[in-house]
Amino acid sequence: MAKVLVIAEIKQGVLKGSTAQLLSKAKAIGAETAVVAIGSNIELLIPNLVNAGSDTQYIADDPGLELFSAGPYSSCVVDAAKQFGADMIWFGFSESGKTVAPRVAAQLSAACATDITDVMFKGDQIEVIRPAIANKVMQRVKVNTKQLVAVVRAGAFDATEGISGTKNVVKLSSPAPDLKAVIRQIISEASGDIDLADANIVISVGRGAKDQAGVDLVKELANDLEAGFGSSRAMVDGGFMPHYKQVGQTGKIVAPTLYIAIGISGAIQHVAGMKGSKVILAVNKDPEAPIFNVSDYGIVGDLFEVVPILRAEIKKIRS
Ligand SMILES: Cc1cc2nc3c(=O)[nH]c(=O)nc-3n(C[C@H](O)[C@H](O)[C@H](O)COP(=O)(O)OP(=O)(O)OC[C@H]3O[C@@H](n4cnc5c(N)ncnc54)[C@H](O)[C@@H]3O)c2cc1C
Repeated sequence: MAKVLVIAEIKQGVLKGSTAQLLSKAKAIGAETAVVAIGSNIELLIPNLVNAGSDTQYIADDPGLELFSAGPYSSCVVDAAKQFGADMIWFGFSESGKTVAPRVAAQLSAACATDITDVMFKGDQIEVIRPAIANKVMQRVKVNTKQLVAVVRAGAFDATEGISGTKNVVKLSSPAPDLKAVIRQIISEASGDIDLADANIVISVGRGAKDQAGVDLVKELANDLEAGFGSSRAMVDGGFMPHYKQVGQTGKIVAPTLYIAIGISGAIQHVAGMKGSKVILAVNKDPEAPIFNVSDYGIVGDLFEVVPILRAEIKKIRS
């Protein structure tokens, strides 16, 4: 039986949904599952790690691990992977995951595949599916090493309802601190915002909104729906939205239950970041806009008229 080690994503003491998604997929391919959780004061998350579907929980709980630091975090993952005898080590699609994965692969002399959307076994051989050439094609990659380190694209796997694991806690010893780079503080520009990667609904604004007043109008709709608020690159380049809000090939990849694109044309680079969404609704005044080709629902109209109508209808439904 293959062994899959999943790296738990923990943000401000909360276990992120991606951990259960990755563990569910590991169980679905018949693998034995383990999870490694790294941080400070995280032992209280052990029941959540079991409920997410892990059969062994490797815990690195140390005050020195409170702030993310690539060196010590990599050491913890390598330690857990060796103890577990992992065939595959899966990271979620977070900045920390993308930073640590190649370090772990190098230390284990394993292959590293980023952005994977599927994984399968052909006999003993691992194969993965991942996008290539700016998402124009999907490639099937044969892995020629015994172990694979993979970063899984956001929303690629679904969590299975009612999944659970077994409790088998292994405490990891504290890694040596990173002496070359000491992280003193993490300052997040996005603090207080709904994280695009976790949001159930994401609403993105494009150049059709014209200016700050247009952006603010669309943002009110996002607030009404408690949605993550994203943007096309045009509005980032125009200085109306910060870069961390950009959705697309050179921004965030999102896969919410509902994605609403407002005043966005649907350029291939934008679509690369949102086409994995379960349901897509587009609002655009041009009926020929390419965004309609990837949308489940479309409203052809002026966003300055459509958005207030949507807001009023939502208010009616809610009351
Ligand atoms: C290497 C590279 C990487 C890139 N990475 C990204 C990326 O990560 N993310 C990204 O988004 N882009 C990216 N781009 C840019 C991308 O090619 C497009 O230029 C960009 O997505 C266009 O943004 P937009 O759809 O908001 O603007 P436009 O293409 O100008 O579209 C505006 C749309 O609004 C509609 N509209 C206008 N007025 C209204 C109105 N009143 N009501 C309703 N609709 C209206 C128009 O019909 C039009 O369809 C990248 C480009 C390159 C070359």
